[in-house]
Amino acid sequence: MAPGLDGLPAAEREVEVAAPVAEFLRSASPRALRRIRLGLRAFEWLPFPWRFSRLGGGARDDFLRRMEASRFSLHHELLLMAKVLVTLGYAVAPRVEEKIGTRRSCRLADGSLPAPQGTLGDTMPSGPEEECDVVIVGSGAGGAVAAATLAEAGLDVIVLEAGEAFDQESYPADPLEAIARLYRDGGLTIAEGRPQVPVPVGRAVGGTTVVNSGTCFRAPPAVLEDWRTRFGIEWATDLDGAFAEAEELLRVTPLDPERMGRNGQLAMEGAAALGASGGPISRNAGSCVQCSSCPLGCEIDAKRGMHVSYIPRAVAAGARLRTGVEARRVLIEKGRATGVACTLAPLRPGPGNRGKGTARAGSRPYAVRARLATVVAGGALGTPELLLRSGLSGSPIGRNLHIHPACWIGARYAEEVRGWDGVMQSYYVDEWEPQRLLLEATFTPLAFGGAWLPGAGSDHQRSLLEFHHVGSIGVHLSDESSGRVSLTRDGSLRVRYKLTQEDANRLTFGIARAAEIHFAAGATEVYPNIPRAGVLTPSNLPDFESTRFKPSELRLEAFHPMGTARISPPGDGACAPNGSVHGVSDLYVADASLFPTSLGVNPMMTIIAFATRIATELTKSS
Ligand SMILES: Cc1cc2nc3c(=O)[nH]c(=O)nc-3n(C[C@H](O)[C@H](O)[C@H](O)COP(=O)(O)OP(=O)(O)OC[C@H]3O[C@@H](n4cnc5c(N)ncnc54)[C@H](O)[C@@H]3O)c2cc1C
Ligand code: SF4
Repeated sequence: MAPGLDGLPAAEREVEVAAPVAEFLRSASPRALRRIRLGLRAFEWLPFPWRFSRLGGGARDDFLRRMEASRFSLHHELLLMAKVLVTLGYAVAPRVEEKIGTRRSCRLADGSLPAPQGTLGDTMPSGPEEECDVVIVGSGAGGAVAAATLAEAGLDVIVLEAGEAFDQESYPADPLEAIARLYRDGGLTIAEGRPQVPVPVGRAVGGTTVVNSGTCFRAPPAVLEDWRTRFGIEWATDLDGAFAEAEELLRVTPLDPERMGRNGQLAMEGAAALGASGGPISRNAGSCVQCSSCPLGCEIDAKRGMHVSYIPRAVAAGARLRTGVEARRVLIEKGRATGVACTLAPLRPGPGNRGKGTARAGSRPYAVRARLATVVAGGALGTPELLLRSGLSGSPIGRNLHIHPACWIGARYAEEVRGWDGVMQSYYVDEWEPQRLLLEATFTPLAFGGAWLPGAGSDHQRSLLEFHHVGSIGVHLSDESSGRVSLTRDGSLRVRYKLTQEDANRLTFGIARAAEIHFAAGATEVYPNIPRAGVLTPSNLPDFESTRFKPSELRLEAFHPMGTARISPPGDGACAPNGSVHGVSDLYVADASLFPTSLGVNPMMTIIAFATRIATELTKSS
């Protein structure tokens, strides 16, 4: 798939791709692995009676072009899977990065390094069972904030986190290792459906905030008003104080247009030329000016994720953080949650557990007894998974999954964009909010973004060589479509999602708007990521807009799962407005799962505001 071209090294002959990718895939779930194996086998035999791996260079390119032009969506899905895996392994090879000119070097505007942010304490349990007032599962946007709020109110808190702890000194330098260790299932969590949608979520102290883009939006007032009136969340329109407090702690500031990088500036110029409303994005990364590698962890911790903000604050107030601990089951006795039964994973060295790497030889049981309450904040996939595993089935838990399906719309500019020399997510356009759309200039690292460039084989290599001329905009939809989180027979996670034709139409409309912005900023061609549409130019854009594309034709990703334990009356939702789970005493949810409908903007700040509110109410009732 990467034969080598004009100075780009040939895969396998000059740079290793298969072995590092195979090693990386060890972090995928058995279910994902089975699907990948099956897909690769089918891909290998598609040129039947020949096998793809045995074809010569020219024949491979011909075959890949035929796959690109095929009218069967299965061909596109298989090709995309092969392209994603190959690009992941190929793009991170130092020789490839050197040739293309990408590099990872996080930097603040004044060249300084952010000071380390407090301690995480000793993350090792003191025995096979511990006791506290409140146990919290998950240390992401919801769990970390609940922990700080409860600990500062004087409660004895234990936070359980399945992932490891990372800081400036311990982020893995190798991108594949970073993905494997910072994400659940190596980032290969897929919502099954047509199309299949990857929904990566973080798995580390700080949760997904460690790998997110640092974009901070308050919830749209109209959405909060809807949640108040339709779902009975009386306090939903009273969150200004919680937003302001979080913005101060996370040092949320709007980007300086001069310093946000050319990718954001082009989106800004294009939107201005069209008269579309928008602005520089506010972020929790202070004056960071570089480097577009937020999804691999911010190696200087400029981004104030939960691991460098609320978690150290919770620990300073006495909370105990336990890492490498997977909550397996909420303990429920006589209708009351009394704690959590867990598995303690073998430990790797990290902050808070340096030098203790050999202390846990294999995984072993561990439990936490909670005197007052059990709070589940494992994210919109992890929370329903745990609740379902705890026997709370037959209720709306796991339903109503919304994900903000998104597509990456790249464009070729005559000028050099060098998107990696700027802030990853930098400028938003909210002109089409009435159509449920939010556009954000987002430049992803080559290992992720490279697979979305046009072409396959030699043609894709040509695209890679032009990467410094590429600009990109993410189109995010506030989805009415929904999905479901459930457990398979063997108890593992299953995520399903069904994109409706109406939402596919909205996304197509959004792609056309992103294309218009690109063209207005000087782009010569746009890549809509819909195989049947090919490459867009100003002259064929009207044809694109008048074409109806089936949901299965779109290539999507999603980064904002929510709604799987929503606040709504019993029968319709899983939780009451105070976050308590219907039907079980002393059991609460405090994360993205609570949202009754799709939010419409990047959710971290709203999750923080919800967790603040729920934990504050909990301190009053305890
Ligand atoms: C690549 C990417 C970029 C993003 N960019 C932005 C952005 O710029 N702005 C924004 O607002 N949002 C962004 N998001 C989304 C945002 O980060 C998440 O919505 C948010 O962090 C979710 O918070 P949460 O508390 O619900 O879950 P998470 O932050 O995901 O935390 C859940 C934690 O619980 C742990 N956990 C789960 N189950 C268990 C268990 N059984 N036992 C122990 N631990 C468990 C997990 O390991 C995880 O650490 C992005 C997401 C991604 C993937
Ligand atoms: S926040 Fe993101 S863009 Fe800024 S320095 Fe960190 S990784 Fe780089």
